[in-house]
Amino acid sequence: MKRIVILGAGFGGLRAAIVLGKKSRELRNKGYQITLIDKNNYHTYTPLLYEISTTSKETANYLDLKSVTTYSVEGVLLGFPIEFIQGEVINIDLLNKKIQLADQPAAAASARQVEYEYLLIALGAETNFFGIPGLQENALELKSLNDALKIRDTVWEMVEGAATDEAVDIVIGGAGSTGVELAGEIQEWISQMRKEGHRCRTSVTLVDAASTILNGFEPKIINRATARLKKLGTNILTAEKVSKVENGKVFLESGKIASYDILIWTGGVKANSIIDKLPFKKEKQGRVGVADELLCALENPDLEVGNKIYGIGDIVCVHDSRGRPVPMVARAAIIQGTIAAKNTINDINGRKLRFRYNPKEYPYIIPIGGKYAIAKIGPIIISGFFGWILKGLVELNYLDSIMPLQRALKIWLKGLKIFIQNDRLG
Ligand SMILES: Cc1cc2nc3c(=O)[nH]c(=O)nc-3n(C[C@H](O)[C@H](O)[C@H](O)COP(=O)(O)OP(=O)(O)OC[C@H]3O[C@@H](n4cnc5c(N)ncnc54)[C@H](O)[C@@H]3O)c2cc1C
Repeated sequence: MKRIVILGAGFGGLRAAIVLGKKSRELRNKGYQITLIDKNNYHTYTPLLYEISTTSKETANYLDLKSVTTYSVEGVLLGFPIEFIQGEVINIDLLNKKIQLADQPAAAASARQVEYEYLLIALGAETNFFGIPGLQENALELKSLNDALKIRDTVWEMVEGAATDEAVDIVIGGAGSTGVELAGEIQEWISQMRKEGHRCRTSVTLVDAASTILNGFEPKIINRATARLKKLGTNILTAEKVSKVENGKVFLESGKIASYDILIWTGGVKANSIIDKLPFKKEKQGRVGVADELLCALENPDLEVGNKIYGIGDIVCVHDSRGRPVPMVARAAIIQGTIAAKNTINDINGRKLRFRYNPKEYPYIIPIGGKYAIAKIGPIIISGFFGWILKGLVELNYLDSIMPLQRALKIWLKGLKIFIQNDRLG
């Protein structure tokens, strides 16, 4: 059997696997099997990570939190004849059509190299520290379940261990949606802790180089989010670029210094660095240039790399009709995963029909502390409690798209029970 290999079981890769899995019999008859590779044996629902970062150990333990935000890849693919390999991709050898995986103690040498005939790359993004001196060494980040737990534990331990009136200053660098969500939620969590008797002085400061928070979003959204954060007590420092970080101090280009006890960096992402070494055309943030069929564009079009290589999700850069790069969001990755999978099926079946990716303005929801979120669907903006309800429904809808409804409901209700306690304040 020749392999169709999908790299990454995130939003895009998992969707591609499901679409290909539904055609597995047809593909098998043509001599192809489907292989999905991810370094984790679970799929992460990233929109819930900010909740994990702010759920105290008393509200939910590690296993409960893990079960509501991550879902076993093999569980999701149950019933599909898809081979799942848990392994870290360390190189893609385009010329020899081989994926190289990191050494795993129990694995045979042959298990560290996976040959492919078709390749769909969906390895996502990583935090971009922009080479700012001292930043990576001193800051926490929020990209994975473990990152979220680390933030939770750090905040908890600092506030728990602080004496009455002792200062605990939290600085969040980057006021995009992740920074804003996290600032709002930490702020609420801290007010709850104060109600429970912790008497230290805490502050949450959001710093961004742009002139507003949520740079690039429309003014109405920015105004509502700013008002909400101010109401919660968050300090907002905009038009302030971080120049360096030294133990306990964030130096800003303006000459100001923001002191911190906890520093979290949500100031940027870039395509997975595996891509850096590959001879693809690179766009902004190291993302691979793809045309509307989602084929990865080679720097040298004459390079012989065998069959077509598709790029999906955060690792690729597609421009909309106004020339703006499509934002790195789950909805784009899911749609691209479907398109790349369908084009692969058509390629193998020798059909001429090609699906094209047509970027759209995707709806979005930004939760900001407690039972409050700002949602934008087309021209409609909903903020407050109904935005928060909508966020829950979007999550249920996503779960239902990757697993049977009964299981989706069970996980969703469990999460709701945890996060309703977490979001006690309105
Ligand atoms: C905190 C946070 C909150 C977010 N909230 C939202 C939101 O509310 N709405 C929204 O639309 N988007 C949100 N996003 C963005 C969204 O998560 C991404 O756009 C989306 O995950 C992109 O999908 P993807 O398939 O490209 O990558 P991912 O979903 O990131 O998947 C990449 C996969 O590749 C695997 N992988 C990476 N490197 C390797 C390797 N070397 N070897 C093997 N496997 C590897 C990873 O384990 C992962 O499973 C959020 C992101 C974060 C970090």
